[in-house]
Amino acid sequence: MQDSVWQAVLGEIELSVSRANFATWFMNTRLLRYKDDVLVIGVPNVFIKQQLEKKYNPLILELLEKNGVKPKQVEYKIHSSITMPKKSDEQTETLLESPNRNDSKQRPSSSLTHTYRQGLNDKYTFDNFVVGSGNELAYAACQAIAQHPGQKYNPLFVYGGVGIGKTHLIQAVGNAILAKNPNAHIVYVSTEQFVQEFLDAIRYKKNTDFAGYYRGADVLIVDDMQFIAGKEKTQEEFFHTFNALHQANKQIIISSDKPPREIPTLEERLRSRFAWGMSIDMQNPDFETRCAIIQTKAHIHAIELPQDVVEYLANLVQTNIRELEGVLNQLLAFCEMRNLEPDLNIAKSLIGASKSRPKHLSAKQIIEKTAKHFHVPLEDILGPKRDKDIVVPRQVAMYMLRNELHLSFPKIARELGRKDHTTAIHSVEKIQKESTFDPDIKLAITEIKERLYA
Ligand code: ADP
Ligand code: MG
Repeated sequence: MQDSVWQAVLGEIELSVSRANFATWFMNTRLLRYKDDVLVIGVPNVFIKQQLEKKYNPLILELLEKNGVKPKQVEYKIHSSITMPKKSDEQTETLLESPNRNDSKQRPSSSLTHTYRQGLNDKYTFDNFVVGSGNELAYAACQAIAQHPGQKYNPLFVYGGVGIGKTHLIQAVGNAILAKNPNAHIVYVSTEQFVQEFLDAIRYKKNTDFAGYYRGADVLIVDDMQFIAGKEKTQEEFFHTFNALHQANKQIIISSDKPPREIPTLEERLRSRFAWGMSIDMQNPDFETRCAIIQTKAHIHAIELPQDVVEYLANLVQTNIRELEGVLNQLLAFCEMRNLEPDLNIAKSLIGASKSRPKHLSAKQIIEKTAKHFHVPLEDILGPKRDKDIVVPRQVAMYMLRNELHLSFPKIARELGRKDHTTAIHSVEKIQKESTFDPDIKLAITEIKERLYA
């Protein structure tokens, strides 16, 4: 079996688990071997091994089978070349073989035996990042930071929708700095992991030196900051880490799916810290960029795709590049296993059927997801209130009903409890217009769609 099959499986996993979970549990895995019906997946540490065994094994088996591979058994093996240096890897292996050796309380999740580069995945580089209209600003800022960390744009806050390249870009900064200066202390961490480690440090009162580790960074990259919402203690800890690093002119890079002001319950003092540097909005890739991304990814597999296939895929998936990669991997794996040259017919029959929209969406689902996105109660959207923070979500809901379900204006008005259908016409037009220049509206529409079609 080829690693491309595992890549295809990963592509599908990426679509079915949260981003942070994917980054934490799957990103650094690879196929080691497939022999005698036993498939061995290499993983970077024991924490991940356990989680895959305990939680994700059924999903992995299912997706392997879907991609034509049916092993009797899947094993997860800690694999030294994956990210951790040899030494700590051996330590984890021994820990694994004799778990009760000294103290079973010693939680393997002390991935806090960290070295300063764990979490970085060398597959994310500037070289293989395609620059286009939606991301050129973020790209330029990241390049500048890689040249002179800590001097400009500190902190850098990049935000944008799902699968748009945030993780890739901020990891590329870390990799570029490391390439120039192998001794740099680069810390990349998902916010989920940061929260988890912080809680563990408190709970187990271990001398893991959580704070010291993060404050020892030259560059701290924190991904998916939206997950810090509501976690007061962690916010406080992060605040202190931030201050310590910032004062020492160390570079801080943060990503999030929304701008700081829209992260609910983000402490004011953190919000104002984030405003010290630069905030950049990453936008959906345009058609040309999507085509270029597909070509680049195909080249990584040493495959030249016919232009009609490229354009077909680029039209099929319009916002989420991860999803775009998913369908590409699916196609490549299918062709590789059967020794076929990818062409438009194969692409259409393989991917077209499963992707043809819409799924069975109801008006109710659309209104609910819109309300949820804006954190307003459903009854307010459907009710008489005319406050701005209710009216805008209501207008967006109307816009979505028009665009996703093609409902008539009177029907749209009725779905939202309005008598007059001119309100619906006005609302749809207004949002249509605003979606071309208002980044918040644009983001809202993208995100609600993501949720609807996830
Ligand atoms: P996000 O963190 O914004 O959800 P990711 O950075 O994980 O998105 O990107 C999803 C996938 O798409 C990754 O595999 C990444 O390599 C790829 N990708 C995103 N943007 C680009 C780009 N501009 N060029 C090449 N690959 C990209
Ligand atoms: Mg990400």
